[in-house]
Amino acid sequence: MTERKLVIAHLFPELLNLYGDSGNILCLRKRMEWRGITCEIREVHPGDTPSFSGVDLAFIGGGSDREQKIVCDKLLAVGSEVRSFVEDYGVLLAVCGGYQLLGESYLMGNEKVQGLSLVDLYTDHGDPRLIGNVIVQSSVSEQPIVGYENHAGRTHLGPSATALGKVLYGHGNDGVSGEEGVLYKNVLGTYVHGPLLPKNPGVADWAIARALERKYGKGQLEALDDTVELAANQIMYDRLMHGEVKEQ
Ligand code: GLN
Repeated sequence: MTERKLVIAHLFPELLNLYGDSGNILCLRKRMEWRGITCEIREVHPGDTPSFSGVDLAFIGGGSDREQKIVCDKLLAVGSEVRSFVEDYGVLLAVCGGYQLLGESYLMGNEKVQGLSLVDLYTDHGDPRLIGNVIVQSSVSEQPIVGYENHAGRTHLGPSATALGKVLYGHGNDGVSGEEGVLYKNVLGTYVHGPLLPKNPGVADWAIARALERKYGKGQLEALDDTVELAANQIMYDRLMHGEVKEQ
């Protein structure tokens, strides 16, 4: 069998890494290695100029408004390269603060900050913060997506953006629309921390499969024994949806 290899760009791990977001990279790497897919991880640090050349999958986590702004400026400086990557079906996973950067703008205090304009959405903010466990039903994953959210931002999708899924529990994009996250080409944005991927193997495999499909024309993945991952997912689902003590 010909060697399959994917290059992951981990954007600014020391700035955007709330609630274990970097665990998503470990999860992607293990799920590739278990299938004999070589995984190269290129970390992009604050002193670096981000490059998407040869990158198959990029990941950006969440963080404070201050860190978000530093990262946004860095990415805006190579904005056309990021846009070409996205338009060319590069896989981009973005969590919370990173998700907010994908849109036209987001609010930092009362200041409207220009975003990367990769996807038709914008973010303002509201009070109170939207905090707690979250469950999302999404076409991307057979199992509901489970995780944790904590954001002041309210994200509003424009007509050309599709939500990642429907909120079954928790708040999602803005606390009122019943929608969570965004899907556009091979971009997946979400408020779900946790980290997102270990308890949601369907989402991890969606990203790997999309990247393989783009690079090799074939995205089929061998099934893995996900007994532990699915048990972790199920426990969260049962606890939140059917638990005796319902969390608010
Ligand atoms: N600073 C952003 C907000 O509060 C994102 C927070 C996060 O990444 N969890 O909306």
